[in-house]
Amino acid sequence: KPIPFAQSSRIYRTIDQGSYNDLIPHTALAYTTYLKLGGYQQLKTLVEADDETTREKIITTLENANLRGLGGAGFPTGRKWRIVRSFAGPRLMAVNIDEGEPGTFKDRYYLERNPHRFLEGMLIASHVVGIATIYIYLRDEYAGIRALLQQEIAALIKDPPCPLPNIELRRGAGAYICGEESAMIESIEGKRGVPRLRPPYIAEKGLFGLPTLAHNMETLYWVCELLEKGANWFSAHRRNGRHGLRSFSVSGRVKLPGMYLAPAGITLRELVDEYCEGMAEGHTLKAYFPGGASGGILPATLSDIPLDFDTLNEYGCFIGSAAIIVLSDQDSVREQALNAMKFFAHESCGQCTPCRVGTKKAAMLMNEKKWDQALLEELCQVMGDASICGLGQAAPNPLRCAMKYFPEEFG
Ligand code: SF4
Repeated sequence: KPIPFAQSSRIYRTIDQGSYNDLIPHTALAYTTYLKLGGYQQLKTLVEADDETTREKIITTLENANLRGLGGAGFPTGRKWRIVRSFAGPRLMAVNIDEGEPGTFKDRYYLERNPHRFLEGMLIASHVVGIATIYIYLRDEYAGIRALLQQEIAALIKDPPCPLPNIELRRGAGAYICGEESAMIESIEGKRGVPRLRPPYIAEKGLFGLPTLAHNMETLYWVCELLEKGANWFSAHRRNGRHGLRSFSVSGRVKLPGMYLAPAGITLRELVDEYCEGMAEGHTLKAYFPGGASGGILPATLSDIPLDFDTLNEYGCFIGSAAIIVLSDQDSVREQALNAMKFFAHESCGQCTPCRVGTKKAAMLMNEKKWDQALLEELCQVMGDASICGLGQAAPNPLRCAMKYFPEEFG
């Protein structure tokens, strides 16, 4: 017998408010402690000043620091704030904490430790851009963080440091595609999460048809520290000719996997040796995913190139959310590429044919003992050229890299 809706939603609420609270990470800094440490002072000063000069100064600091979108796309943050501000209000904001790219766990790491630094950055952005309502989109798998954010946002609203905009915490439902900003926006609006065709861009017509500032959580996390320490502090971190900092989620065959904050121009070799204590016992570096499943796969011979936003494009890869998955001589790149393609086939929203059919067909062909490389290359071309969104456009990356850099695996 089906459970009547009212009854099922009651059961749901019990789980929501009860056992999930036990999952709140003990590492997190609570609202009162954050306040005692001087938290929300920057926001308070900004709101009290309430003038154009201060807002302009903040945007200029972000521009000088060259803070870029850390969800993966790398769009300059200051420029984004200017663009959204240029459209007439009301304006909305969507914060992306879907963190679905395989191998990425940096947002979770920061939230589990200092949720208010993110919330303060978010509120500063909201004040500078003039936002009426903020929607935080959190992946449903982060049950502990949901309970934590519910608790901390409630504490903030109960005793606000200054007037606040509306804040809504929304739950994702496990779809990878909802990490794509326009699909996330559809999902927040209560629709099926499928990407939109652009233009119009989200900045002009996003949530409910209104100008929308969409950001990855980590981008907002850095706002306070940047304003406190200045643009030079961020850009002074240099390595191999690149500036700034990146949060690398490192997993795979290394001794010490984890989240590491390192200079943006660091190479894979330096990251593994200096931060991860080297390769795991008995493993020799063979390859690595520089940007989760969609960023492609690079061979060990290319472990000395800077892992920054622009360099990797020359090699048919991208850094994306900086999820580094290290593979060793005991791994098959061929199998990893197939695994990534199966993932894309499973997560494709199905809206456009090149991606819906292309990923499935590619996975089928890659399952064969001998790969038809000419046909696979044709499929990659079509998916890359004709897919609506980044999922279909990036799906060929691991496959193409496997064929290009590891010909020995294809006999
Ligand atoms: Fe959906 Fe794939 Fe098309 Fe993106 S590329 S809209 S995920 S079918």
